[in-house]
Amino acid sequence: IYKHKIERIETMKVSIVVPCFNEEKTVPLFFDEVEKFKGAHEFEYLFIDDGSKDGTLAAIKKLAAAYPYVRFVSFSRNFGKEAAMYAGLDHSTGDYVVIMDADLQHPPTMIPDMIKGIQEGYDCCAARRTTRKGEAPVRSFFSRMFYKVNKKMTNIDLVQGAVDFRIMTRQMVDSVLELSERQRFSKGIFSWVGFKTKWLPYENVERPLGSTKWSFWGLFKYAIDGITSFSITPLRIVTGMGFLISIFAFLYSIVTLIKTIIFGIDVPGYTTTLCAILFLGGIIELSIGVLGEYIANIYMEVKN
Ligand code: UDP
Ligand code: MG
Repeated sequence: IYKHKIERIETMKVSIVVPCFNEEKTVPLFFDEVEKFKGAHEFEYLFIDDGSKDGTLAAIKKLAAAYPYVRFVSFSRNFGKEAAMYAGLDHSTGDYVVIMDADLQHPPTMIPDMIKGIQEGYDCCAARRTTRKGEAPVRSFFSRMFYKVNKKMTNIDLVQGAVDFRIMTRQMVDSVLELSERQRFSKGIFSWVGFKTKWLPYENVERPLGSTKWSFWGLFKYAIDGITSFSITPLRIVTGMGFLISIFAFLYSIVTLIKTIIFGIDVPGYTTTLCAILFLGGIIELSIGVLGEYIANIYMEVKN
């Protein structure tokens, strides 16, 4: 333990994992900027070209040819940032791994602070946006809604404003990699694996070049993934509704039955038809809920 501590304080090998999709202009800018914050540490860059359509791969290859500590992975097509992050973590060799965006929206000035956090004994040091300056108000509104709904539906504690900019120890990276599911929601996975995390606040930075790759529907799908990845609550809601409908149907049947006995029949067949429909509806919904419970168990087992 003592030897490990000494190593931590002197130099550390840090892998920088950078998912890139159509970032030909930002990649060289990013590299120059991050190089400034190396200090005494050894950096390894891992650029992941996520099937870019522009000259991103060429820009990365140029850096890799000039610097032996720049490596890259190139995808056969666009698989999305989640897949790019997974590939980056998988190929990283550093004792510590930083994940950050290529567009300089994650301030490289924070890297030394993050390393310091690790030296203080944290397993992970992550950035949290405190402002959403420069973002469309609609987007901010839906984002806040997502955090609220997510908190209610899952037992994953997502930190408001958390971004995919963090440093992790090898131990934590290996834990994250062990969850090899295809439908990845990394923000949730980072929280799920546990470990001691230090949060560093920062103010939102606008993109210097290029544009965001997220459309509204892209984000909406991502939010749904975030909830369904860690929660079986939607299935529970079905079961709950089944119960409610069944109870309602049962009560209603009794009321109409009594009414029919006292006041007689106004429309023949009406009472029986209505009660049958309501009751069957409730039973069907309840049955779907029961199936859902089993599917939920299968889902959790498959996630391993
Ligand atoms: N990115 C990626 N694959 C994608 C979309 C984005 O690797 O399909 C990368 C992108 O190059 C950038 C990071 O993910 O480095 C964040 O993307 P972006 O800046 O578009 O998102 P925003 O900052 O607007 O949330
Ligand atoms: Mg960005």
